[in-house]
Amino acid sequence: MSIASRPYVGRFAPSPTGPLHFGSLVAAVGSFLEARAHGGRWLLRIEDVDAPRTTPGAADGIIATLARFGFEWDGDIVWQSGRLDAYRQAFEQLQAAGHVFACACTRRELADSTLARDGSRIYPGTCRNGLPPGRAPHAWRVRAEGTVAFVDRIQGPQREDLGSEVGDFVVLRGDGQFAYQLAVVVDDAAAGVTDIVRGADLLGSTGRQIHLQHLLGVPTPGYAHLPVVVNAAGEKLSKQTLAAPLDDHAPTPSLAAALAFLGQEPPADLARASRDEIWAWARAHWSLACVPRQLCALPPAQAAAS
Ligand code: GLU
Repeated sequence: MSIASRPYVGRFAPSPTGPLHFGSLVAAVGSFLEARAHGGRWLLRIEDVDAPRTTPGAADGIIATLARFGFEWDGDIVWQSGRLDAYRQAFEQLQAAGHVFACACTRRELADSTLARDGSRIYPGTCRNGLPPGRAPHAWRVRAEGTVAFVDRIQGPQREDLGSEVGDFVVLRGDGQFAYQLAVVVDDAAAGVTDIVRGADLLGSTGRQIHLQHLLGVPTPGYAHLPVVVNAAGEKLSKQTLAAPLDDHAPTPSLAAALAFLGQEPPADLARASRDEIWAWARAHWSLACVPRQLCALPPAQAAAS
């Protein structure tokens, strides 16, 4: 069955690096409402594959905040830390088909390589045809060549030349950690996700993920990348930029602000409505077509003040 004819399955996939903030709320609201507008399922996955980057207690905090904000997910929460066998299997499939190679290059050796648009280094191909004598692997990379094109439902047509704009990318690190790119593709495929709605900061990862879907022989979902919330300095809200955590005790102003950020034009008095009234309004009025076709924007209060 083609993915377009399968019942809609969406998801929200936070990384437990800290508490939810307004930026992550926007991604949760957009993916949730789009799934419900299609009568679809909405799954929750905790992306704790990168153990060293995971903050103890953050996942429980995220789940509690989502529940306080009135999100309802379908089925059990998936934890990437419990899915290592599936990642290993996918890695072995890629390896058996000759798509991965061991790479000995250190970060320092790659420091002069050109930057890809997500800030990673475009791999110059040093170990593509075998490790240099006497060197041990630091990582395993997947060969990336050819062009990936897709139409993003918000940002429009996208095209990426994997060889010149992305380069061979890491799927398994020397410390045994599977890369986010591999984990996300394996998990979305296993869960039957048909549609991915997430922040545009991940637009630069999508070409890599579609490439992996092709190599693994799994369907490519539809994509819609929402504008990312930035602060006055133009930085994405994150733990690093000290984004304020959401207030679990006052969900309604943040929910109303998230709807405004997503171009849904909630009535001014909605911020004073109850949580359930906001959701009822949001479900009745949600339209992906109203989401601004922008890669990033200030949150509503700051946009109004500037
Ligand atoms: N875990 C990623 C993040 O929190 C999102 C991954 C995704 O939606 O594909 O940025």
